[in-house]
Formats: sequence, C-alpha cells, structure tokens
Amino acid sequence: MAALKRILVTGGAGFLGSHLCERLVALGHDVICLDNFFTSQKSNVAALLGRPNFELIRHDITLPIFLEVDEIYNLACPAAPGHYQYNPIKTMKTSVMGAINVLGMAKRCRAKVLQASTSEVYGDPEVHPQPESYRGAVNPIGLRACYDEGKRAAETLFMDYHRRNGVNMRIVRIFNTYGPRMHPFDGRVVSNFIRQALRGGPITIFGDGSQSRSFCYREDLVDGILRMMDGPDEVVGPLNLGNPVEFTIRELAEQVLELTGSASELKYEPLPPDDPVQRQPDISLARRRLGWEPAVPLREGLRKTIAWFRSIDPDHYRPPTPQY
Ligand code: NAD
Ligand code: UDP
Repeated sequence: MAALKRILVTGGAGFLGSHLCERLVALGHDVICLDNFFTSQKSNVAALLGRPNFELIRHDITLPIFLEVDEIYNLACPAAPGHYQYNPIKTMKTSVMGAINVLGMAKRCRAKVLQASTSEVYGDPEVHPQPESYRGAVNPIGLRACYDEGKRAAETLFMDYHRRNGVNMRIVRIFNTYGPRMHPFDGRVVSNFIRQALRGGPITIFGDGSQSRSFCYREDLVDGILRMMDGPDEVVGPLNLGNPVEFTIRELAEQVLELTGSASELKYEPLPPDDPVQRQPDISLARRRLGWEPAVPLREGLRKTIAWFRSIDPDHYRPPTPQY
C-alpha cells in the first residue's frame, strides 16, 4: 500500500476540490481542506466533516498560512466567468498571491505541489486542438484577463520555484469540466442550461451557438489530477487534462433538452467579449506519460449531472455576495 500523506487541498470545498477531497479521504490520507467559501458552501464537504482524517479550515489563500504537509493541490480560485469577473482584482490576487503562499509552504515543507491551471491560458486560440506547446492568444486587458493572466502568472511562479528552488511541482491545464456540485448560479454553460431546462424557462445561447467546447466529466478530471500528482517527477507539465470530444454550444443545448425532456425554447443573446470561438485539448501528453484518457461520454455525464440538479434546491445556493 502507498504511504499515507498529509495533504492540503486549497479550494477544497469547491466543485472539483470537494470531489478531490472525497477521493483522498477514501484513500486514507490526512486531508486538510482550505477554503474561504467565496463560490462554494460547506454542504459540499458536509459528508466529510465527521471523518477523523478530514479537517476544514476557513481561510483566504491570499494570506499566508503555516501548515505542515506532504502534498498540496492548489485549486483555490473562482473558475466561472461570472464568478471571476465579480471582483477581478481579487481574482488576480488569488491566483498570484495564492501561488506564492502555497509555493512558499511547499519550499519550507519540501512538499510536492500541483497547480490547477486552465485552458484559458490559450485565450481565444488560433491553433486547434491546443497542445501544451501553444503559447496562446490572451487579451491582457479584457474582461477575462483577471483570470487568464492570473493563471499564466501562477504558471510562471511555479516554473521559477521549480527551477530556482527545486520545488517538486506539477501544472495541469484543465479544460471545461462539469458534473454534480457545480454551483447552480455560476453562469457556466452546463449548469445554466440544466437549471434553465428543469425550470422550463428559456435556454440562453450566447452568440449563434456555433462556438465549441469539449466537456470533461468530473470523475475523469479528478482521476487525471491524481495521476499527475503521483506520476513521474520529470513530468512537471504543463499538461492538458480534458475530454477531446468537441461539441458546439447549440449541440449541448439540444442534448440537455432531450435528456431533461424539457420544452424550453432557445433564446439567443449577445456573445460576451473575448469568448473563445473553439476549444479542444490535445491530450497526447497525458495519454503517453500518464496513461490517462477520459472514459465518460457527454450523454452519460449529463444524465448524472441532471439527476443531481433534480435532487437539489437551487434556493439553498447563493451567488457571490456584494460584501465580498
Ligand atoms: P469552484 O469555484 O467550485 O472552486 C473554487 C474554490 O476556491 C471555491 O470553493 C472557492 O470558494 C475557493 N476560493 C476562491 N477564492 C479563494 C481564496 N482567495 N481563498 C480560498 N479559497 C478560495 O471552481 P472549480 O470548477 O471547482 O475550479 C477549481 C479549480 O480548477 C480552479 O482553480 C479553477 O481555475 C480550475 N479550473 C476549473 C475548470 C472547470 O471547468 N471546472 C477549468 C479550468 C480550471
Ligand atoms: N454560454 C452560453 N449560454 C450560457 C452560458 C454560457 O451560450 O448561458 C456559452 C459561452 O458564451 C461560451 C460557452 O457557453 O461560449 C462556455 O461558457 P462557460 O462560461 O461555461 O465557460 P468558458 O467560456 O470559460 O469556457
């Protein structure tokens, strides 16, 4: 059996973080979940709260914190456009100061640290599909820049701590991921469409719906993150994680309508600025070095996500508060 470790998950109460915590707790590790609950709520980790190998800390990762750990998964950062644009300066601080704080901790504890980066580092890509070698086309002064440039700067910090200080680290670039526990009001396309379809209101398609995304189911993605952390030390990344099967947004809307049995109509709204036209990960590196491949097709993942959305009361979730 592999050695049990003390593991910190920042952003551990979020959509991906809470599932990652569940997996690590089930493996028997000592898990510390750190979160400021900006885009999540305690109910995401409620089932873990009584477990002897799980601890929850309310803390903002822009502030230093001293913990003794063996591994760190750095997921703390709002991820949905509506969430990260709510307070763009704070978003940039979370990526940059958060990276500095977890890297300092990793250096002090000689811990291994993984950064949850994003396909947004490629911006609105001119290369399709996107390999890790592509340097991207990000608008540095646009509405998405607080997130895109923050994540790019975090990648720079990770590489420099690695080269300069020998910090054992990994960077994964996550492409659109969906599944149970997405915040119902995060404004992301999958959560919006399912919530709208179940309510019977109009499905809001931005632009003409011909823009594309490639959707990865939560379990597949977290599997890739775990493999990357446990993978060979020379595979530091950046490494793409996502499902390479691409759909247009209109196709996604049609699938959601069919699977929910909803009679909602499609409502076309203006495309937000800098919205990437197409996105598909090139996952050859993950296949070759980690033997990782997503297994859950969109229809199956949507079925499970729809079942979860049917089981919750959206009124128990709140959008980010104005006081934040
Ligand atoms: P999420 O919003 O559900 O999770 C982020 C978590 O971080 C939340 O619990 C939030 O409260 C917490 N957080 C935000 N700012 C914080 C701060 N300053 N201090 C402490 N905690 C803070 O989003 P998610 O989809 O689970 O994303 C997790 C990570 O994966 C993010 O870093 C995101 O950028 C990255 N990612 C996600 C996707 C995706 O499609 N889900 C795609 C690319 C990258
Ligand atoms: N989108 C849409 N209707 C919605 C929400 C999003 O048509 O109600 C579109 C959005 O313009 C983008 C795509 O769906 O082209 C994915 O958006 P999301 O916010 O989920 O993620 P990102 O743009 O960061 O990939």
